[in-house]
Amino acid sequence: MISDTTYIGRFAPSPSGPLHFGSLLAALASYLDAKANKGLWLLRMEDLDPAREPPEAAEQILRCLEQFSLHWDSEVLYQSHRLEAYAEALNDLQEQGLIYACDCTRQQIHAMGGVYDNRCRTRNDRVTGGALRVQTQNIQVSFEDRIQGEYSQDLLYQCGDFVLVRKDGLFAYQLAVVVDDAYQQITDIVRGFDLIESSPRQIYLQRCLNYPLPRYAHIPVAVNEEGQKLSKQHFADAINPQQASELLFKALSFLGQTPDPALAGASSTELLSWGIAHWDIQAVPKLANIPHESV
Ligand code: GLU
Repeated sequence: MISDTTYIGRFAPSPSGPLHFGSLLAALASYLDAKANKGLWLLRMEDLDPAREPPEAAEQILRCLEQFSLHWDSEVLYQSHRLEAYAEALNDLQEQGLIYACDCTRQQIHAMGGVYDNRCRTRNDRVTGGALRVQTQNIQVSFEDRIQGEYSQDLLYQCGDFVLVRKDGLFAYQLAVVVDDAYQQITDIVRGFDLIESSPRQIYLQRCLNYPLPRYAHIPVAVNEEGQKLSKQHFADAINPQQASELLFKALSFLGQTPDPALAGASSTELLSWGIAHWDIQAVPKLANIPHESV
């Protein structure tokens, strides 16, 4: 089924708590872009960090999406079931001589000015119990974001060699996301602006692993009065499915779409149909963030 379609999008929540308005935006934008392009919208549960995931959260997220009528195609992919695939990709990079161990602490990296200076690349002593990093190159990684325009990063100097396996042995987000986007044949990634600075790392890995390169679109992030991203860490309120209509109306406006005021109070299905029919990605504000109270 998948290979007959030219557009495959996805929503990839981390089940560290219930959905909040910020995650609803990413879900809605990726859904509308997929459906307006007659594509598939897949769901992937990024559940790689059990210590940060209340056991009921993944299920809660799925039920909540359903209550907003955000129905996904195909089966949910759970990253916790994909460890072998990540190990294989890591092995591929290891065979290319790109992986090395590093036991530098957070404090040490802070003292380097926040960007890792790749010092363990050339160490002669054996590092045990460290993280595994991938070597970057002195290259500029650029891509054309469908919303934000050209984005570019000097990989070596702005990012440095980055972690693929954490010190605690867990696979890092950067590796898992790239392996799974390729596995699910994702053609289009629509997500929050906070992840735009991860995209060059992901593109670099896609190139190293010989994967196809997806297109990217980064939507503005909803922030609170203090300018902080609405997130579970900042105790953003869980969205209430009883208010689905109001919240979807608000989310459409936030994304620069202009729902007819007559749609106020309409059902989720009606709002989503309107959203698909009128989706205009060029109308999404080319901004990093927007105070959510302003909508
Ligand atoms: N799991 C990530 C998050 O919830 C999103 C990953 C992505 O869209 O690439 O922030």
